[in-house]
Amino acid sequence: MTWVEGATGSPYGVHNLPYGVFTHGGRGPRIGTRVGDFVLDLDGAEAADLILAGGALRQPTLNAFLRLGRAQWAAVRQRIIELLTEPEHRPAVQPLLIPVAEVEMALPFEVGDYVDFYSSEHHAANVGRIFRPNQPPLLPNWKHLPIGYHGRAGTVVVSGTPITRPCGQRSTPDGPVYGPSIRLDIEAEVGFVVGVPSALGERVPVDRFAEHVFGVVLVNDWSARDIQAWEYQPLGPFLGKSFATSISPWVVPLDALAHAWTPAPVQDPPVLDYLRDEPHLGLDLRLAVDWNGTRVSEPPFSTMYWTPAQQLAHLTVNGASLRTGDLYASGTVSGERRDQVGSFLELTWGGREPVRLADGSTRTFLEDGDTVTISATAPGPDGATVALGEVTGTILPAAV
Ligand code: CA
Repeated sequence: MTWVEGATGSPYGVHNLPYGVFTHGGRGPRIGTRVGDFVLDLDGAEAADLILAGGALRQPTLNAFLRLGRAQWAAVRQRIIELLTEPEHRPAVQPLLIPVAEVEMALPFEVGDYVDFYSSEHHAANVGRIFRPNQPPLLPNWKHLPIGYHGRAGTVVVSGTPITRPCGQRSTPDGPVYGPSIRLDIEAEVGFVVGVPSALGERVPVDRFAEHVFGVVLVNDWSARDIQAWEYQPLGPFLGKSFATSISPWVVPLDALAHAWTPAPVQDPPVLDYLRDEPHLGLDLRLAVDWNGTRVSEPPFSTMYWTPAQQLAHLTVNGASLRTGDLYASGTVSGERRDQVGSFLELTWGGREPVRLADGSTRTFLEDGDTVTISATAPGPDGATVALGEVTGTILPAAV
């Protein structure tokens, strides 16, 4: 039980406590945690010696805090819980609470490298059927390694940032043309935020996932399907993806997701030893996609074929080092049903089956002015719910 008004029973109760960076009252970006409908100013809390984190909470991004490692993450979290639950702390802490409606959220961490996986079997098979209709839906390597590519860290933006429709080349029967994308799409994904770095040449085995990964954000990996379809062979996604990737402003620590681990789908054929995780667990995150306010899909993250520990082991198995602030995303989260898919490419089956929104209009891909919001919840302790911060974005016309 917390003394913070309205926070008991909230999906942002003291069992959650995600970290973010906010601005308020004309002051520069500061680190905070969300509790109920308030942001606790952690910069102010450390300045007042209410929390000891060696100055890591007095920074304009989370990176210094992310670098501290699991023991200190746990200690700071425990101290915040004490401050928000023990009535004796209320006089000192209450002045550091700011209504969440009054703050503006910033990008929570400086993104190091950005990697995007492709770990939903349903999504990969759907895309295979749509893009390569006369071939097996999964390529031969898909069940042997988590497929991924390196994305563009510099265009990762915080939720709420408007997304300008990208321009590029697309293929037409008369040859390639240049112009605004006409098949602009979303990808609902879950991103994992690396805290503790690794050395060049070092591998991070599956059982050291929690030593390195701090927490989770929601990701919208905006995708221009027409640009993508023309450019992606043989080297993979490029300009169809790199124009913007949105993340939620709140990083939910793994410590808040302890009750969300659930058995991941059985892997057949068996994976190579370095990818074998025992137990083989994914996260029971329940995503939701709202298109101009109409709920169009509820992708279940628990169906992902490759787990975040396997993804981390794979992306370092060649000795590539991790940096604090590295972000690796899961790939589009799609369940087996049409109302569980994480992209509009799948929802409208390549644009052939439009969806109807609540205002009566229909859509295949995104139109200018459209807003997409991805949210998610997870099971918490004692029947509680953990909310992940929303990631939202509105499409602006192309800058032609
Ligand atoms: Ca993606």
